[in-house]
Amino acid sequence: MSQRSISVLGATGSVGTSTLDLIRRERDKWRVVALTANCQAEELAKLAREFDAEIAVVADESCLTDLRNALGESAVEAAGGSAALNEAASRPVDLTVAAIVGCAGLAPTMAAIEQGKAVALANKEALVSAGEVMTAAVARSGATLLPVDSEHNAIFQCLAGNELDHVRSITLTASGGPFRTWDNDAIENATPKQAVNHPNWDMGAKISVDSATMFNKGLELIEAHHLFPVGLEKIKIVVHPQSVIHSMVEYRDGSTLAQLGPSDMRVPIASCLAWPERMETPMSPLDLPAIGELSFFAPDEGRFPATRLARQAAEAGGATPAILNAANEVAVASFLAGGIKFGDIAPLVARCLDDITLPVPANLDEVQAVDSAARTQATALLEMK
Ligand code: NDP
Repeated sequence: MSQRSISVLGATGSVGTSTLDLIRRERDKWRVVALTANCQAEELAKLAREFDAEIAVVADESCLTDLRNALGESAVEAAGGSAALNEAASRPVDLTVAAIVGCAGLAPTMAAIEQGKAVALANKEALVSAGEVMTAAVARSGATLLPVDSEHNAIFQCLAGNELDHVRSITLTASGGPFRTWDNDAIENATPKQAVNHPNWDMGAKISVDSATMFNKGLELIEAHHLFPVGLEKIKIVVHPQSVIHSMVEYRDGSTLAQLGPSDMRVPIASCLAWPERMETPMSPLDLPAIGELSFFAPDEGRFPATRLARQAAEAGGATPAILNAANEVAVASFLAGGIKFGDIAPLVARCLDDITLPVPANLDEVQAVDSAARTQATALLEMK
């Protein structure tokens, strides 16, 4: 196989470093073009030098001097700021891994999509916010969107060779997060340290909090709605604490296909890197006798209202999912910074959904305007607390 080119947006994050771990194992197969971060300049420079990247970009321009210093005499080009990030994302590559956290990743992900090649999408907030604007760009450019999220990657694999028309339902599995068995009072007052302590997955702080609130599953519901357009009513959520089955597709003949694997993001990332082939990964095979039992529960939307709010936002469509996402990002950042209680996150999002009505965004600029308006409102609500 000839060498393929790759860019990793969000290279210093949890998904980014897992991706680079796999690339490292098959170094001769890949030519690394762009690696990006927000401000972890030293870490980014280390990766850029190791992988001989063409360019390293920090989104936060104030970190560019640190990046230049850390790159020293190396041949890696250095750049900073959002325009530089978008320019790097639009450099032609065979595969872009979109692994920036939050709606901040939207513009560079769209820039990569516009190139019409393969984009492995981890950055679910971008798709949730942009919705049809992103799926239309994928259709227009001829890009291939490969889902990195373990659930969507599982569904993608279960759908291979089948027709969407034959799907009776799609079931997203959810671990239930660290507070699955906690009562309302304990959940209300959970600390950031407790919230980021996920029982099965080792992830970035934001998605870990989202897993604890179940907003992660809510965002995934909207993500699945766009990636696999079978109708929202056919997309279900089931709590499966062992995180062994990553999702399932039921067909009209009564067959249900499931994808199983270890709780390690390198499995779905490898599926995207090698697609439509398969590559070796370093994980131990599943040991089913050691796992023993797989259990399933209906989500409890009384204690975890996020999935209900997300379903309502998906049904409303238009600007609503972007408002939900932006409000959640603001709330999670405030919670992690000690500004609000864990139990304040979902009510803040619900309040923003009630308070804000915005026109349906028709392009990237309009999605970003919705995102920004919702952030302003969510921040104002936080300041009133
Ligand atoms: P991390 O927080 O670990 O990493 C985020 C990456 O994005 C870092 O490289 C960070 O740079 C960069 N970044 C942060 N803010 C900005 C910004 N404003 N502009 C540009 N770059 C920025 O996140 P994860 O890897 O956990 O998650 C990445 C995405 O993948 C999220 O959308 C998440 O929902 C999704 N995902 C993650 C999974 C996981 O297992 N972690 C599983 C499934 C999906 P810096 O290091 O400089 O801050």
